[in-house]
Amino acid sequence: MTQVTETQILEALQGVADPDRGGSIVDLGMIAGLQVKDGHVAFAIQVDPERGPHMEPLRKAAEDRVHGLPGVLSVTAVLTAERPQDGGPAGQVPVDDVLMPGVKSIVAVASGKGGVGKSTTAVNLALALRDKGLKVGLLDADIYGPSMPRMLGIGGDPTSSDGHRLDPMQNHGIKCMSMGFLVEEETPVIWRGPMVMGALEQFMRDVDWGDLDVMVVDMPPGTGDAQLTMAQRVPLTGAVIVSTPQDIALADARKGLNMFRKTDVPVLGLIENMSYFVCPHCGERTEIFSHGGAKAEADLLGMAFLGEVPLDVAIRETSDGGHPIVDSDPESPHTRAYRQIADQVWDGVEQQLARKQAQAPRIVLQ
Ligand code: ADP
Repeated sequence: MTQVTETQILEALQGVADPDRGGSIVDLGMIAGLQVKDGHVAFAIQVDPERGPHMEPLRKAAEDRVHGLPGVLSVTAVLTAERPQDGGPAGQVPVDDVLMPGVKSIVAVASGKGGVGKSTTAVNLALALRDKGLKVGLLDADIYGPSMPRMLGIGGDPTSSDGHRLDPMQNHGIKCMSMGFLVEEETPVIWRGPMVMGALEQFMRDVDWGDLDVMVVDMPPGTGDAQLTMAQRVPLTGAVIVSTPQDIALADARKGLNMFRKTDVPVLGLIENMSYFVCPHCGERTEIFSHGGAKAEADLLGMAFLGEVPLDVAIRETSDGGHPIVDSDPESPHTRAYRQIADQVWDGVEQQLARKQAQAPRIVLQ
């Protein structure tokens, strides 16, 4: 099959005009981060933030234009507010709290590597926070492998009540937005760092989150540049790190801690997932990996240890089936573990909010 080239794609995009300014989106320098891999194409269209909400037809037109080229299997175009500054990488401007004025706090759930149960922890933590009577949102920023549509059991496309911003999707009393709702499941996600940032900013700016006590952010796994920039761009109140007990994973957890320290984001603590194995037949507890490593490591690093969650098929089946255990089995010991973790996370958040308040400038009338 013929392989489509970057030049062909840019030629095709030449024919797409900016509706406000008239010129081609290529000539106006609006295309960024073009990626072509085995017929799969991804790029960003840079627009001014105020114009963002009205640019969907332009995005679609660009996507359709490229889709029409021979050899193109899929196209993903995203709108981004980014503008590279002085030729440097896009995405260095910090997002300010004004983007989501009704959101009181934001907690990132991070991990040093994939597959440690970060998303499972994020969703159960969000549900346990909900059970504390808090208004909770879940932002699935794991753009490489969005799992929240499946874990929260939400399907379909987001709609817009006001015609400008997307309404978050909702289930189990939690508001959620995920790239999984916006791109086809088969679409290979070959985002570059700046495009990820643009998408994330859109999730904050163009989604009508309303009032939330806490937004839980399921971060992409790992501690690379994209994760670091994301941690810098989201006004995080704090972060929790999920790790499995293996030493290697703990070394990764340490990288996670260092990443947040670099960005001055308070680390609220470490959670040990798949801490020990519970036999589904006899209930016997087996410590497969030297259990307790995470607690010792947390102590060593001066981090709080938030708790441990066992490796249990019930946890996998419930979250992979759209009914995470905190929701489907509220009395189980695993749910109790998540609740204890949520209590500590919320204590940490309240401390950070109080600190921020104390630091805020005060007006004294004399
Ligand atoms: P990550 O977000 O770190 O990539 P996931 O949360 O997607 O990891 O988990 C990976 C897989 O492991 C999923 O199938 C999930 O259901 C399963 N899993 C996660 N935590 C547990 C656990 N404590 N017990 C059993 N299975 C788990």
